[in-house]
Amino acid sequence: MRDKKDKTVRDDIFEKDFDKIRQIQPRSREIKDQKIKQRDEYSRRSLPKSRQKKGASFLTKAAVPLLALAIGAAAGIGCGYYLWGYEKPYSVNLKEVQVPSWIEQNFIRKNLFSRPDVTLKRVDNIVIHYVANAGSSAAANRSYFNNLADQDPQQPGTVGGSHFIVGLDGEILQIIPLSEVTYAAAPRNFDTISIEVCHPDETGKFSEETYESLVRLTAWLCEELELSSKDLIRHHDVSGKNCPKYYVENEDAWKQFKKDVKNAMKGR
Ligand SMILES: [Zn+2]
Repeated sequence: MRDKKDKTVRDDIFEKDFDKIRQIQPRSREIKDQKIKQRDEYSRRSLPKSRQKKGASFLTKAAVPLLALAIGAAAGIGCGYYLWGYEKPYSVNLKEVQVPSWIEQNFIRKNLFSRPDVTLKRVDNIVIHYVANAGSSAAANRSYFNNLADQDPQQPGTVGGSHFIVGLDGEILQIIPLSEVTYAAAPRNFDTISIEVCHPDETGKFSEETYESLVRLTAWLCEELELSSKDLIRHHDVSGKNCPKYYVENEDAWKQFKKDVKNAMKGR
């Protein structure tokens, strides 16, 4: 879903200020730190109280290397090993991924509002969206994102974007390179690829052609980016938005989609 609706203040700051975006551009260490923090929060819940306190005091310290060491020590060797594994350098070269001919590449203009020209350093999840504009075509949605470039950069504006758009007839457009950040799933714009999907009506359900293309595209991405069907998430899972509507309201359909992607990967 486009980010012009129910935007949070954080989104505003995160998505609109070009200089700030550059400053918080994910040096891989920061991403690791963020993940370690999340992991630590998770671990602490299952630890005894004495350990929880210890963890809490460490958390208040901001130094990245100290934090990493401290968590390793506090959580024990097993967990430490897990973290060490988690910190493996990202091995996919996003600039080198060869895009097949069934994907039409037609990149939008570089601009503050929809293609900020910030390097995407890693991909941990693929985020599925619906365009929230029933009956609109992939080309129309591309134009919409492209035209966001015409807004006055000095004024607050609408931001949005996506790497891919899957159309009503199953056509697939790529409008932003895999190696660039897009504004689609804050605060996970820095380690995700986003796919917007067109839909014929307000239910948000995809047509058969659209669905087949979405499965094909997603399976291909999973293979190229060394991800599995477990790494597929809904925009809803990132920010709580009702997007993609049909998969938020129909959990079984979402599970089936992930299964279909998994099967499509096996078949290759
Ligand atoms: Zn969305």
